[in-house]
Amino acid sequence: MTEGREKGFETLQIHAGAQPDPTTGARQTPIYQTTSFVFRDADHAARLFNLEEVGYIYSRLTNPTISVLQDRMAALEGGVGAVCCASGHAAQIMALFPLMGPGLNVVSSSRLYGGTVTQFSQSFKRFGWEARLVDFDDFDAVRAAIDENTRALFCEVINNPGGSITDIEAIAKIADEAGIPLIADNTGATPYLCRPIDFGATIVVHAMTKYMTGNGTAMGGAIIDSGKFDWSASDKFPSLSQPEPAYHGLKFHETFGPLAYTFFGIAIGLRDLGMVLNPQAAHYTLLGLETLSLRMQRHVENAVKVATWLENDDRVEYVTYAGLESSPYYKVMQRISPRGAGGLFTFALKNGYDACVKFVDSLDMFSHVANFGDARSLVIHPASTTHRQLSPEQLKAADAGPNIVRLSIGLEDPEDIIADLDQALTKATA
Ligand SMILES: *Cc1c(COP(=O)(O)O)cnc(C)c1O
Repeated sequence: MTEGREKGFETLQIHAGAQPDPTTGARQTPIYQTTSFVFRDADHAARLFNLEEVGYIYSRLTNPTISVLQDRMAALEGGVGAVCCASGHAAQIMALFPLMGPGLNVVSSSRLYGGTVTQFSQSFKRFGWEARLVDFDDFDAVRAAIDENTRALFCEVINNPGGSITDIEAIAKIADEAGIPLIADNTGATPYLCRPIDFGATIVVHAMTKYMTGNGTAMGGAIIDSGKFDWSASDKFPSLSQPEPAYHGLKFHETFGPLAYTFFGIAIGLRDLGMVLNPQAAHYTLLGLETLSLRMQRHVENAVKVATWLENDDRVEYVTYAGLESSPYYKVMQRISPRGAGGLFTFALKNGYDACVKFVDSLDMFSHVANFGDARSLVIHPASTTHRQLSPEQLKAADAGPNIVRLSIGLEDPEDIIADLDQALTKATA
């Protein structure tokens, strides 16, 4: 693309990272459905393996379709580099892998996707990692949870399922004071609504599975690095600042500067953990990204209409959408995510658990699924599904109590979305 002018978001979502295929002229990015790439000669192979030259070796490490997606994700989030991987959950492990080790901890918001609560509080223990879940609205509690073994703060920008918004600007300052990175999960907002790096986040992670692909076709994750963190300022991050034994003594920060974290993610993370994205999934996500801004505008417009309608209905106890002026998160939303609060929120039904189950079963157009961020409107009852593994205290902390239903507002006619909710509410409260 032409140099000089900084491209706007809607140009980047279509063009960043891509150019016509140099061999065939193919305009759309081809799916490079190949495991391996032929070396020019033995010297070329050796240079690639030594990271002296960047190029393609084997699709567990790098693949041209995935490289385009990585460059596009980095451009959209305003980072220096990105690593794509198999799923949002893979991205969380990959993001922490260069920073963590046995006995170390991550201080995380308790308001998280249910699967993340389980991954953090159960599976991380097997690595000797500890996740300390605290209320990220309580800045003193966040500061108090940090100790000399803390290696990162972690939170979602727009929280799944409740749709509340984390003040990542304030949280990034706390991370700075502690000399550790803030990792922000931007799945619910997407870079069209919020770019966490602009507010001081070091690293952004995504479940591209949701809005980035946007139609429920492909699993995918991404880790984007701001390139702004000084990994050598303390002795806390030896994988990046010290000679790396898993790469014949290479010092990643000294050698790659701001790209150290991204190169580590590929050369060690993807190489040894193997949580690789496949080129077909990268292709679906690239197609989805081309319309990200348009879709997010409509998701927000529809969500505001639906949430306003629900808030004014007396079968509904309350609605958590941060885009409503009545929300305690409305002010934070205007600063952190000024284009809107996304399309994901919950509401509480007056008649509790049984009414929620009846409501979900009575919906016609809404699909009852575990996903969100689809063009289709989706519904789930977290307490009996995604958040089922959580204790009653964790359910409360995650805004996922027994009377709570989560909606992901799609791109259909808002009148049809509301009509479907109306008839199901009537059946659930009869
Ligand atoms: C879905 C989701 C994840 C996990 O992503 P997968 O692609 O399902 O592994 C992580 N964080 C958030 C906020 C999510 O919504």
